Amino acid sequence: MLTKFTSRILVAAIGSMGLSAVSVEAGELDYPLTRLSDKIHLIYGPFALPDARNRGFRNNVVIVTTSAGVVVFDPGGSAAAGEMVVSRVKSITDTPIVAVFNSHVHGDHWLGNEGVKRSYPKAVIYGHHVMKSKTEGPVGEQWLTMINRLTEGTAGGKIVVAPNVSVENGDLITIGDTEFRIFHSGSAHTDNDIMIEIVGEHVLFTGDVVRNGLFGLMEEDSSFKGNLAAIDFISKKSYKLYIPGHGSSGGKEILNGYREYLHTVRETVEALYEEGLADYEMKPKVIDALSVYKDWSGFDLRVGSHVSRAYLEIEAEAF
Ligand SMILES: [Zn+2]
Repeated sequence: MLTKFTSRILVAAIGSMGLSAVSVEAGELDYPLTRLSDKIHLIYGPFALPDARNRGFRNNVVIVTTSAGVVVFDPGGSAAAGEMVVSRVKSITDTPIVAVFNSHVHGDHWLGNEGVKRSYPKAVIYGHHVMKSKTEGPVGEQWLTMINRLTEGTAGGKIVVAPNVSVENGDLITIGDTEFRIFHSGSAHTDNDIMIEIVGEHVLFTGDVVRNGLFGLMEEDSSFKGNLAAIDFISKKSYKLYIPGHGSSGGKEILNGYREYLHTVRETVEALYEEGLADYEMKPKVIDALSVYKDWSGFDLRVGSHVSRAYLEIEAEAF
């Protein structure tokens, strides 16, 4: 039985993920590996919504080889995607996947755990403690069901595989010769995001706290203010490369680009709220203010919900 809260999340997620998924032929999942360094490889996800062609795969997967085995960040949005990640890992090393980090609770980032576990049942899966408890609860099952349905069963998911180890802000996790530093600064893209530094490589994986070229969900556990704060927090540090949850990697300009989007939504909605406009009245004005972003994938699909989310956040702060 769904609680009112989780039902609302499901409805919002289904609505924004695209309920009317168009039937397409099942894809082969032949997304290539990109080599970033001796230690780090990446599989860039496509921007399409989950469907039979991408079998739920649409996020950026990071593969780190350590002296103790392979570590994967966000192994895809389905069991099938996780199996693809395993086959890509096997193409670069004979060593097993020993650990997985999940950046947050959205299923396009963690449903691949199941595919990894089929080959490597001993792999440790890390996630923020809120992500762990949400995934273990109804939210985990809702994501599994939704992605199986949107992909017409080609996602191949059978069970929820939640993290088995919790991580917190500031944790330093050593795996073989490599250290991973965890950042969490409160509610941002969700209330359970982690960003992961690959220590010594000057690389930061931001998960969906930073996105590049693709808009995504901002729901009840999101905070525009908190997401801005998380980007400001991480901007005080300096990395050679930032890998977002979706879209191309790059330098600090990626942080600045997404920060400016969030800031413009917040600032414009706040000004119009003070003028007494309702959220539906604001939408065209906010869209005008965001013209630089209109070519980002998902702009038309998400912008209305982002305005509503920012409106509710500002309204709640006013009381
Ligand atoms: Zn997300």
